Amino acid sequence: MKIFEEIESEVQSYARSFPRVFNKAQGEYLYDTEGNQYLDFLAGAGTLNYGHNNPIFKKELLKYIESDGITHGLDLHTNAKGNFLNTFNDKILKPRNMDYMVQFTGPTGANAVETAMKLARKIKQRETIISFTNGYHGVTLGALASTGNQHHRGGAGMLLTGVDTLPYDGYMGDDIDTTAYLDKVLTDSSSGVDHPAAIIVETVQGEGGITAASFSWLQNIEKICKKHDILLIVDDIQAGCGRTGTFFSFDEVGIQPDIITMSKSLSGYGLPFAIVLFKPEHDIWKPGEHNGTFRGNNLAFVTAEAAINHYWSDDLFSKEVKRKGKYMYDRINKIIDQYGEGNFSSRGRGMFQGINCVSGELASKITKLAFKNGLMIETSGADDHVIKFLCPLTISDQNLKRGIDILEDAIETVCAKVKNFDEEVDYFDENYEVEEE
Ligand code: PMP
Repeated sequence: MKIFEEIESEVQSYARSFPRVFNKAQGEYLYDTEGNQYLDFLAGAGTLNYGHNNPIFKKELLKYIESDGITHGLDLHTNAKGNFLNTFNDKILKPRNMDYMVQFTGPTGANAVETAMKLARKIKQRETIISFTNGYHGVTLGALASTGNQHHRGGAGMLLTGVDTLPYDGYMGDDIDTTAYLDKVLTDSSSGVDHPAAIIVETVQGEGGITAASFSWLQNIEKICKKHDILLIVDDIQAGCGRTGTFFSFDEVGIQPDIITMSKSLSGYGLPFAIVLFKPEHDIWKPGEHNGTFRGNNLAFVTAEAAINHYWSDDLFSKEVKRKGKYMYDRINKIIDQYGEGNFSSRGRGMFQGINCVSGELASKITKLAFKNGLMIETSGADDHVIKFLCPLTISDQNLKRGIDILEDAIETVCAKVKNFDEEVDYFDENYEVEEE
């Protein structure tokens, strides 16, 4: 369709990787206007953990719309919001002994992160936040200051301030404990690192390349926060809502963050929705101090409640995610052993898995060929060198296998071509080709 070239901004990104016009989706399937079917291993960049148009949520949503339920409600008290809060409290917070307040922010992940950072600064009356190498927390200015990627940072056009970036787990190699370095710079009054209000961390870095921090590293981060009177913010926007096998990605880590950000799959249906959770003693906001027109996406409250009721009332779903995650891990490692030539490696936790192909060019060739063969899968990491598996958690065993089979075939083909020093292969017919900048 020409209109996209004519008037849609150059800022598009996913549309360049998957240059098709899509018109239908169900579960783990996406369809384009030519009737081609794709297995969706991107799933709205982690927003569709329960699949496209999940029929359970759709039924609730249609019933709600049909009854003229409130759609937009600012921060007004509504039935839909009350029901979500009750369900979230009863099924998520209370069983985990989590005593947290819920703040409804603007509906993007970035706005939840802005909120968390503002609140931490306000509580501690300190300016600096510590974030980590390869961290990704969004692209509005405050959140962007805590995002590592230079391509995104460069878009700011101004100094990004108020954040110091320190090495994430494994950044200096497997043998170096970067929490020891963190503790050292916070202890040394001449380190040049100011006493921060908070540390913001992803338990598994999504955009940064599916790097999972070890539980002991995360526990050390919490200890360091306590030791130095610093708040711990866990950004669970991508790793949360079951992706790693538990509702919160830190459920089994044994830490209690002071502040938690959530978005992406929280609504379950792909509807925009974000929240920030914090301990009651930290609820020092003045009314309206952080506001936003779209804090009351009541349609999202309806589907989020349905998602929690259906998938998180017991531990069956969590067990399923762990089982499928183990299958993915085993398959991925077999693929790496077979084709990786000792260069590829696997990373991640639960159904948040990745293959580090070392080269972004190679990873891109593999994902392009996979797309041609009906699998939609993206890359992440500093050089887009990590193939990132984000399929819906609800995917059938058969389709999970089929998706990985398609990827394996693509890896086999691309690696064989690279090995044989074949000429640059153009995997797409003309219609597919998107001009590189
Ligand atoms: N934090 C994390 C961990 C994310 O993965 C993302 C989005 N990829 C964000 C924040 C920003 O969310 P949004 O794109 O909705 O602003």
